[in-house]
Amino acid sequence: MHLHAILCVLATYYESALSLNARSNEQKGDGKDVTPLLLVSFDGFRSDYLEKYPLPNLQKFISGGVLIDHLSNVFTTKTFPNHYSLVTGLYAESHGILASRMYDSETNKTFTIRDSSDPFWWDEATPLWVSVQNWNYKSAAAMWPGTDLMIQNRTSTYFLKYNPKVPFNERLDSLIKWLTEEKLVKFAALYWEEPDSTGHTYGPENTTMMAKALKEVDDNVGLLMDRLNQTGLWGKINVIITSDHGMVQCSQDRLIRLDDCVDRNSYILVDTTPVAAIIPVNDSSDLYKKLSTCNVHMKAYMKAAIPDRLHYRNNKRIQPILLMADEGWTIVQQGNLPRLGDHGYDNSLASMHPFLAAQGPAFRKGYRMNTINSVDLYPLMCNLLGIPEMPNNGSFSNVRCVLLREKCSDLAAVIGIVIGALIVLTTITLLFRLLKNREHSLPRPFARLELEEDDDDEPLLE
Ligand SMILES: [Zn+2]
Repeated sequence: MHLHAILCVLATYYESALSLNARSNEQKGDGKDVTPLLLVSFDGFRSDYLEKYPLPNLQKFISGGVLIDHLSNVFTTKTFPNHYSLVTGLYAESHGILASRMYDSETNKTFTIRDSSDPFWWDEATPLWVSVQNWNYKSAAAMWPGTDLMIQNRTSTYFLKYNPKVPFNERLDSLIKWLTEEKLVKFAALYWEEPDSTGHTYGPENTTMMAKALKEVDDNVGLLMDRLNQTGLWGKINVIITSDHGMVQCSQDRLIRLDDCVDRNSYILVDTTPVAAIIPVNDSSDLYKKLSTCNVHMKAYMKAAIPDRLHYRNNKRIQPILLMADEGWTIVQQGNLPRLGDHGYDNSLASMHPFLAAQGPAFRKGYRMNTINSVDLYPLMCNLLGIPEMPNNGSFSNVRCVLLREKCSDLAAVIGIVIGALIVLTTITLLFRLLKNREHSLPRPFARLELEEDDDDEPLLE
């Protein structure tokens, strides 16, 4: 009898597990109704380049879709942390890719831009291309950071191994081929190193060199639109063009030399500039004191005191002392300026912000927003693809108005309507009063008698 009851319970569990599995497979569907999404990043595209340089192809792309002037990106405003935030919706402290150089004291491992392929660093989050595959779709990627690595045991379904020498048109053609040949490719990601590279070498104030780099970027946008048109994908794919961070001019006159303040043997330097990660060798409070008074253009924080707004504290890879240079200042141990342009600074600085533009069947046309958080892009993309969001720091409601199907009223229009209605109501009331007064001023035979009656209504008590 007892055994029978256990078997019954087990059978019920088995049945419900089967039906749950069937239902989730059913929900995943065959992707027939899902419009593919192409996410493009032009590294280091500062938001105001859009106003300062002629970019006819990009402007054409924007005019038929959506423009968000500023992406409020994540700290540190470096390439790897921000690219990973775009596809996970997480702040750097939550996805674990915190900087261009990291050190893990437990495993004694080091992460650098050139040695970044160990899944150990990436596995704290699930990037969108992995979720897409978990949802039975396929993904394609051309050099987007992380897509060629084993993250949670899988690379992007189709990918190119990272090689900066592969030209833009080859990257694009690979993606177009995968998108046209395989209908289950629902998410594609494309990365290009400019204008970041030129910004570092010449500085963003070198307008001649920046104009040249941005013309090439704009030509690439033109090529992208042409290729999508030629292959019949244009109008049948949602395209987002964005970037990871901005760029600011640096100068030999704005150097902070750590050797002038502290003994090199008293610390280990994990990352240098503009955000330095420091591991004290002995007395951290003495080292912190010396660093905090080293230069007025550099702030020093003990890990526990890093401001909340940076979302950069809760990760074991964040080192005990953090140094933050002011905008345009460079931290070195000694010697000269390493590069004329840099990024990585405080993410509240406008110079660190990129833009975002989007076009496709899902997006409104000629719609403009001032700003969103870069982590809001992830829930937007999940919504576009109809796949569930992993836990993230973004908010779909912040960005939903870029979509055609969302009912959104323009705040300025609403205010206009309210003010207009108030003016009309006030005018009608005034006219009504005016007419009434006129009526009162006409001679009336019983005016005096009425007045006397009114007097009678007055209370008698003094
Ligand atoms: Zn860079």
